Amino acid sequence: MPQLPLIVLGTRNVKKGLELAELLAPLGIRFATLADFPDAIEVAETGDTFGDNARLKAAEQARHLGQWVLGEDSGLSVDALGGRPGVYSARFAGENATDEANNDRLLAELADVPLEKRTAFYTCHMTLADPHGNVVLEAEDYCRGRIRFERAGSGGFGYDPLFEIVEYHRTFGELSPAVKSCLSHRARALRQFAANLATLIESGAFTQSPAHDRIK
Ligand code: IMP
Repeated sequence: MPQLPLIVLGTRNVKKGLELAELLAPLGIRFATLADFPDAIEVAETGDTFGDNARLKAAEQARHLGQWVLGEDSGLSVDALGGRPGVYSARFAGENATDEANNDRLLAELADVPLEKRTAFYTCHMTLADPHGNVVLEAEDYCRGRIRFERAGSGGFGYDPLFEIVEYHRTFGELSPAVKSCLSHRARALRQFAANLATLIESGAFTQSPAHDRIK
């Protein structure tokens, strides 16, 4: 069977990239990161939805690199905040905000909100674009939880120290990477994505990019 093409993970978030790489590894797919492509472009996240942004990150980068690109957009939606920060999760406390600053802002905005109203969910949207920039696969899934009053644990990234999986009485900051990689929005979306990718492979449409494969 011919070698399957490379998929470039279209994210510059290192911790997110590592989670994606670990989730993709068992599928036996060859993947690279944007760090392997010094000429990769910065794609502005101008969409109003996770899907819009994932499609932008996948299609624009794929067209530019002439490679298959997996675009991923994710974030936190808090019920008591009407779904905010949503697509602004990475910049809740301002452009280039740190996770610390975003978590501080979240705690401040929820200061007067009682435990039972602190429900929230993460969303992950994944889009695969072919080397011409056509969107060929999409998957979206969620992970529900609750925002703690204080941080707990140092695992994961972003809002994980505040995001409690209610059934486990633990935040994603406290739970092991193995548990997060089963329960998370990214893991759930990837399970859908993997099933769709298997169908694409069977159809014969997942073939080498016309631009030569630059990562061996
Ligand atoms: P993106 O890189 O523009 O998709 O921004 C994603 C942002 O959403 C991150 O910077 C985090 O603030 C948040 N986020 C997404 N996924 C997770 C996760 O698994 N844990 C914690 N925060 C997350």
